[in-house]
Amino acid sequence: KAKENGRGRVELYETGMLEEAARKRTFEREIEVALLEQQFELHFQPLYVLPGRELAGFEALIRWRHPELGMVSPADFIPVAEQTGAILPIGEWVFDEACRQLAGWPEDIYMSVNVSPVQLRSASILNQICGAIERHNILPRRIEVELTETAMVENSDQIASVLSGLRAFGVRIAMDDFGTGYSSLAHLRTFELDRIKIDRSFIDVSREDVSAAAVVRAVTGLARDLSIATTGEGVENEDQLDGLIAVGCETAQGFLFSKPLSAEKASALLRARLEERNDGDPVSLWPA
Ligand code: C2E
Ligand code: MG
Ligand code: MG
Ligand code: MG
Repeated sequence: KAKENGRGRVELYETGMLEEAARKRTFEREIEVALLEQQFELHFQPLYVLPGRELAGFEALIRWRHPELGMVSPADFIPVAEQTGAILPIGEWVFDEACRQLAGWPEDIYMSVNVSPVQLRSASILNQICGAIERHNILPRRIEVELTETAMVENSDQIASVLSGLRAFGVRIAMDDFGTGYSSLAHLRTFELDRIKIDRSFIDVSREDVSAAAVVRAVTGLARDLSIATTGEGVENEDQLDGLIAVGCETAQGFLFSKPLSAEKASALLRARLEERNDGDPVSLWPA
């Protein structure tokens, strides 16, 4: 009797696995199709300089407009694309699209682009990134590459050489989601970083959470001593922003300021900024 039950469970389990595998294959195929059918788009979340809240740039965030499912979050398809290797052509498209967009925006605006560890291991990544920057004729220092700690943890010579190649070209390097991965202070010495992005889980806390506040204070202090800029991610209220300003965090992003915007809305934000400036500076409109 027990044996029968056991076998029944095994069969059920196997059927479930087959369905799961089939679903996964369909999803994988759909990801391939999405690129050809141009179902991906980039949204742009503004980054602000503290304490004055001047617009500094945008983080490019991919979106998938799935014909049946609607908007699919990158958290759902990027991991699958990393497994299948589809992240390589997707990542190439992301970079080209981000540079194309940035070329049409003011020169003091920068763009931050997420790069997966899988992309970083690809032999052509350096040429791909530098190629996109040259093709769209933008200053390399207007581009920042965001890597997670997972990418840094594989401290291979390959990755170190890609990062130093990027920096030599003028591209900046940021460590994303700092504090969530295999955080090691050694990373801060091994890799030359321009920025640390402090993960939302340390920011999105109440004023009473003294331990999270202590981490944020320690990280910004350490970064400052190492001449690394800091960005607070996921700022949702004024309290959290005040906390970042108090510890001297340089920039912030989050729903308090803005959700990720479509290209049109981001462009409108930039136009509004320009008009605001011109309002205060009539000389530039009517030169003597
Ligand atoms: P990330 O790079 O850490 O991006 C920040 C995420 O936090 C974004 O989610 C953004 O919409 C969200 N966020 C920003 N402010 C707030 C806030 O105040 N509150 C909350 N609750 N969330 C906030 P999104 O766009 O869903 O992206 C998720 C992740 O997917 C990204 O995390 C990044 O790891 C990955 N990703 C997105 N676009 C790309 C891409 O083009 N390439 C690669 N390789 N990964 C990407
Ligand atoms: Mg990011
Ligand atoms: Mg992040
Ligand atoms: Mg994140």
